[in-house]
Amino acid sequence: MMIFFQTNPTTIFVFLTSLILSSHQYFSTALDSEVDDETPFTYTEGTGKGPRKWGQIDPHWKACGNGKMQSPIDLLNKRVQVFPTLGKLKRGYKPAPAVLMNRGHDIVVKWKQDAGKININGTKYKLQQCHWHSPSEHTFNGSRYDLELHAVHESSNGKIAVIGIVYKYGHPDPFLSKLFHHIKSVGREERELGIVNPGNIKFGSRKYYRYIGSLTIPPCTEGIIWTIVKKVRTVSREQVHALREAVHDGFEENARPTQQSGGIGVEFYTPRENGGST
Ligand SMILES: [Zn+2]
Repeated sequence: MMIFFQTNPTTIFVFLTSLILSSHQYFSTALDSEVDDETPFTYTEGTGKGPRKWGQIDPHWKACGNGKMQSPIDLLNKRVQVFPTLGKLKRGYKPAPAVLMNRGHDIVVKWKQDAGKININGTKYKLQQCHWHSPSEHTFNGSRYDLELHAVHESSNGKIAVIGIVYKYGHPDPFLSKLFHHIKSVGREERELGIVNPGNIKFGSRKYYRYIGSLTIPPCTEGIIWTIVKKVRTVSREQVHALREAVHDGFEENARPTQQSGGIGVEFYTPRENGGST
C-alpha cells in the first residue's frame, strides 16, 4: 500500500493510491480486515484522526465509534467473576519461520508457517502474529503498565482470539531480547528472522481474564476473544525504547484509551487452590 502525506499548517491529507498490493497470501483470511500497513489514523486527539474520530474516518471503521464491545477495557476487580470452569489455557505452540515488520503503527512478528495453536472451548485458533503496544492498552483497576504484547490467533472459520500480556519496567523480557537487534534496524521490508519459537513468550501465571471485545485498532472488529494474563511481567526500558524508536513518528505511544464498554462481563480463571501452581 502506498501512502503519500501532504501537509500544510493545519491539515494532513492522506491519499491511498493503491489498496491492491497485498503480497501476504498467508494472511488472506479475516485478519486482512486488520489494517496492515501505514494507516490514516493516529493515537493523538486533536489531529482529526485520533482515537475518538476513528469511527468517522472510514465507513468500515464505524464500530470504533459506535461499537458496544470495544477494547481495551479496565479490568476492574469488582466486575470480574471467578470462573474455575474456564479451565487452563491450552497452548500448543511450536517453533516456525517468522518475519519482523514495521507496520508504521507497531512492530509485528509474523509466523509464515504453522506455529501452533491455542484451544478455547474446543475450537483451535492458530497463532498468526504478535505485536506490541506501549504503554499497555488494558489497565488493571485503573493502573496502566509500560508495555502490552498481543498474540493474535485465528480459527479456520475466521474467528480471532488474542492473548494479551502486560509488562512493567524491570528485567529485560527474554523474547524481546532475542529480537532486539532486529527491532533496532527493521525497515518497511519484511525481515527474515529464521525460526522463532513462540513458546518463548512467557506467561508467568496460569491466571487470566477472559472477555469478548474488539480489535484495538481500526476497523475495531468486535467478537474478539480476549485472554489477558493476570501476571504483570517485566521489560527493560531499553527494549520499550527500541520498539518506540522503530515505529513511525507519532506512534511512539500506540495504546488506544480504555473504552467505556460497561456491559462487558469479564471472567477470571485461577487454578484450584489444592490443584496446582500458578
Ligand atoms: Zn494489538
